[in-house]
This record gives sequence, C-alpha cells and structure tokens, in this order.
Amino acid sequence: MTDSQQTDAPGGRTVLVTGGNRGIGRAIAEAFLAQGDRVAVTTRNGGGPEGALDVRCDVTDPEQVEAAFATVESELGPVEVLVANAGITKDTLLLRMSEDDWSAVVETNLTGTYRLVKRAAKGMLRQRRGRIVLISSVVGLLGSAGQVNYAASKSGLVGLARSVARELGSRSITANVVAPGFVETDMTEVLTDAQRETIRTQVPLGRYARPEEVAGAVTWLASEQAAYVTGAVIPVDGGLGMGH
Ligand code: NDP
Repeated sequence: MTDSQQTDAPGGRTVLVTGGNRGIGRAIAEAFLAQGDRVAVTTRNGGGPEGALDVRCDVTDPEQVEAAFATVESELGPVEVLVANAGITKDTLLLRMSEDDWSAVVETNLTGTYRLVKRAAKGMLRQRRGRIVLISSVVGLLGSAGQVNYAASKSGLVGLARSVARELGSRSITANVVAPGFVETDMTEVLTDAQRETIRTQVPLGRYARPEEVAGAVTWLASEQAAYVTGAVIPVDGGLGMGH
C-alpha cells in the first residue's frame, strides 16, 4: 500500500467544509461524518450537523479565516481535506450590476476561496498530502444571463484549482472542482415557479439535484479511489452542461 492510499482513506481525516450550516455544505459535512471523518464546518449563523465542530468564519475576512484554521488545527488536527463551498449570488443584468454587486460576489466566491486554499495548502505541504475541492457551478462554464458576477467568480475557481493542482501536485495534494447544476437549496428557493420549470425542461434528467448528490462527488474526490484525479471539473448537473 502506498502512502497516499493509507493517508487518504476515509474515517479519521480532518475535513473542513465552509458554509456547512445549510444547503450543499451541510450535506457534504454529513457525508464525511457518515464516513467517520473528523469534520469542522464554518458558519456565520447557526450550527452544522451533529458531530461537526462549528467554527465561526466569514470568508471575506482574512483574520477570521486564519482564526478558523487555528481552531480546527488545535481541536481536530491539521486539515487534510478542504471543501470550499461557501458562496452567494447577487443576480441582475450587466447594465444594472453595481460595483458592490460585482465585488461582493467575487470577494466571497473567488477571493474567499483563494484565502482558504492558501491557508489550507500551508498545512497540506507540511503533511505532504491533501485534498482540495472547490464548489463551482455549471454556470461558470455555460454563462448565465443575469449572473455575470457569479459566473465569472465560478469560472475563476477552475483556473484557481488547475493552477494549484500544478503547483502542489508533486506533494500528493489534489485540487478539483465540482460543478453542480440546479440543486434544491435556499439559493434556488428564490426562483419563481416559471423559472424553475424553464430550468427543469433544459435538464436532461428532468429534475433538480439533491444536495446529497453533490456531496457524493465531493467525498469521492477526497477518497483514495480519486488519488490520481487532479485539476478535474466534475459536473453534477443532470446533463445540463454537457459538452463544456
Ligand atoms: P445556500 O445559499 O443554501 O448556502 C450558502 C452557504 O454559504 C451558507 O452556509 C452561507 O452561510 C455560506 N456563506 C455565504 N457567504 C459566506 C461568507 N462570506 N462567509 C462564510 N460563509 C458564507 O447555498 P447552496 O448550498 O445552494 O450553495 C453552496 C455552494 O454551491 C455555493 O458556492 C453555490 O454557489 C454552489 N452552487 C449551488 C447551486 C444550487 O443550485 N443551489 C448550483 C451550483 C453551485 P450563512 O448561512 O451564514 O449565510
């Protein structure tokens, strides 16, 4: 058995999931907990699933990111798996999009992820292993009217992950992207029935995803079976983005 097979085995690793108090992040945290891993979730409000360590952290604040890692390291040990999931939308058409709409989304979704990955990489380099999974979106590859800020931030994650994959691959650290389509969470709850129906008809599988279906791709990327997968973009989109 190789080193990476031993160290990447589920059950006993320290996993940090941002935005783990609800939606997709919560489902991801639950999936790692079910495998027996030690899981910390960042939250701004409320708590994560039972059994997870809750750590207050707004990813737009570098000091809070540093403090969150320090807490996780002292309570659970060095972070071996980072899932950068926290994200927001501020949808509006380009000509109505304010500087604030742009900056808030890019700051949370892209710059926040840069901070997390950079901080996580320090510990992973010391351990000479690690798994980094970034939650992007089908929209980052397809584009989406009314989501210039969001799509730009989510496609930026692909370049970020692939560059990190090249920089850190020699230390057995992988960096991959999961690109969900439409998932049943608070984020999509705000869509009108007409919008939901239009989207549904464009999805070959004819339905939205459940958060657990995104979590399945994430735990696989962090598993020993995926030890040789890096720089990949894994769609979990019911076929919506096929060909991209
Ligand atoms: P939700 O809106 O349900 O949850 C978003 C999570 O991100 C919350 O935990 C929220 O924390 C956290 N968050 C937002 N801003 C910050 C911040 N500044 N600092 C720390 N945490 C923050 O979204 P989903 O679960 O649907 O989405 C999760 C990820 O998946 C996002 O990156 C999203 O872009 C992506 N995605 C979602 C899709 C969908 O259809 N739902 C499709 C494709 C991608 P709090 O509770 O404190 O607000």
